[in-house]
Amino acid sequence: MRSRQKKNKYIFGPVPSRRLGLSLGVDIVPFKTCSFDCTYCQLGRTTEKTITITEHLKTAEMLKELELSLRNGPTPDYITFSGSGEPTLNSRLGEMISAVKKMTSVPVAVLTNAGQLIPSVRDNLYKADLVIPSLDAVTQQTFERVNRPCKGIRIEHIIANLKIFCRYFQGQTWLEIMLVKGINDTQAELTKMAMVLWGINVNKIQLSTVTRPPCEPGALALSRADLEFSKTILGKRAEIIDGLQGRIRKVSSLYREDDIIALLKRRPCTINDIANLMGVHRNELAKYLEEMQRGGKVESLSHASQIYFRSLDDHHCQRLTEYV
Ligand code: SF4
Repeated sequence: MRSRQKKNKYIFGPVPSRRLGLSLGVDIVPFKTCSFDCTYCQLGRTTEKTITITEHLKTAEMLKELELSLRNGPTPDYITFSGSGEPTLNSRLGEMISAVKKMTSVPVAVLTNAGQLIPSVRDNLYKADLVIPSLDAVTQQTFERVNRPCKGIRIEHIIANLKIFCRYFQGQTWLEIMLVKGINDTQAELTKMAMVLWGINVNKIQLSTVTRPPCEPGALALSRADLEFSKTILGKRAEIIDGLQGRIRKVSSLYREDDIIALLKRRPCTINDIANLMGVHRNELAKYLEEMQRGGKVESLSHASQIYFRSLDDHHCQRLTEYV
């Protein structure tokens, strides 16, 4: 997979995922079209902050790309609707899932911020095998600090809709809680969160913290000890999401690592620079960069409101300011 290839518009990967094994991503809304503007978002500030649910792309075109990716690439563990924004803002999500299920037996997962689980959105999601909703806060004040939602989105409506969704959904629901130091990790917030979680019928509660460069430099990760403490408050169903498993780590290293390092030895780049130069989807790249950061091969630096990556090979490493 070293040579350049035609860049897909909607499909990326398969990428190694901490939770999903090998995940083939499906991106069905334009870049940063989202009802939230989370402080920890790895994709930068939300540029199209909206609650409008509409048809964002030609479904047939996306399905064609998916069919080719499945035919030519390794078989993924999941086909995952996620990507550059909030997938439930695409009105045809349900039809897309049905079409994917006719095409392949690979299970379908959807990642959602759960900001608008209204009946039509719930109907779309009921078609999936696995839904991973986020719930980072249970009080309006903390919700607004961490997720910066569209005006009018109330956390009590999110919780109520999530309860209804989980009551009727036949598949698996894994609730994700992203903890940001000093914002939603207080004992008071976590205690209220634990009480709310008692009333929601999810299969798993997964805790994670900021591991990729966030759009706000002040969005900081919790220490392992603080994560463990949060887990204790949130109860037995809670688990901490760790790094990639061995098999997945191996698969990811087969891909682009050398190409990325070669590029970053020449100059620091933003994630968009690397994606454009290599013909790789931003989200696919984010996974590789996270692993490479974890392995001490690259580092990220914030400069002029942009996040740059550079190689940590000190023979070639240049000062960031020489380039920007
Ligand atoms: S919901 Fe997801 S895509 Fe939207 S701002 Fe938050 S992290 Fe980014």
